[in-house]
Amino acid sequence: MTDRKVIFIGGSSYSGSTMLDMMLANSDQGFSAGEVHALFRPFRPHHFKPVCGCGETSCQLWDKVKENGEIFLYETIFNLLPNVSYIVDSSKDPWWILCQARRLFQQGVEIHNLLIWKEPGAFAHSMLKRKRKGWMKAWRNYYSVYLSLIDDYIPVSYSGLVQDPERFLKELCDRLKMPFNNNQHNFWDKRHHTLFGNRSAKIHLQQKYDSGEHMLMSEIPSTAKHRSIYRDVEYTKSLPEHVKSQIASDLEMKNLVTALRNGGSFLNGGQFNRFFVKKEKAKNQIKYALGSIIGKHWRIF
Ligand SMILES: [Zn+2]
Repeated sequence: MTDRKVIFIGGSSYSGSTMLDMMLANSDQGFSAGEVHALFRPFRPHHFKPVCGCGETSCQLWDKVKENGEIFLYETIFNLLPNVSYIVDSSKDPWWILCQARRLFQQGVEIHNLLIWKEPGAFAHSMLKRKRKGWMKAWRNYYSVYLSLIDDYIPVSYSGLVQDPERFLKELCDRLKMPFNNNQHNFWDKRHHTLFGNRSAKIHLQQKYDSGEHMLMSEIPSTAKHRSIYRDVEYTKSLPEHVKSQIASDLEMKNLVTALRNGGSFLNGGQFNRFFVKKEKAKNQIKYALGSIIGKHWRIF
């Protein structure tokens, strides 16, 4: 399997990972796998009934991939689609990334890690408008775990990406030694098979704007135009004062932002906390274990 690559995208929820996944895979050689981990390790109701991003009910791609098993996941995709030379996996779960990267390394497949992140204020805004609680803990925990487990990654600033997608993607593709075209950011130009992932990003794959019956209003960016890159530069104005002061005073978050800007890792510094990582790993294992049993009926994670 020479000249084949797998690119793993890390990032908290609502960080733009699904969008970045489809942008990078927007070429004949690329394949967007989306949050493919949930095909093998389902933990939410919709994971048990996978719907392919291409929208074709007759598409059997993921059935075949599942049949061959997790161990052969990327190999199956490469074999089924001979034109594909790189796969983008935006499963995000750092333990999934480590596990798959180890396997791919043994198979001689080149791997790259990208970590997309939003400024805490922008992330708080994304969570609050969806009426989701615990934005601060979610953001801190995700990036603390990632930086404690993975040290070789390319940081991707969400705001940098949406401000000038063309230039940003060109630099990224050059760094990854991947093909680039000027329209690559228009990810809806291609029929992707992206599995799961963010629904307000995947809505652009549809020819016409149709929120679908299962779409929550809060998940549709109100000012977004269909098939254009959504960019909200005004979000700080709508942030509640207590959120602004939380962000300004939280040292842990400031340290994380500095590390993310520079591509830093906790593995190389004094910030690695073994107890924290063990605790988060246990929580992650419980999520999959419990999710595999009752996740089919209830969304608990
Ligand atoms: Zn498909």
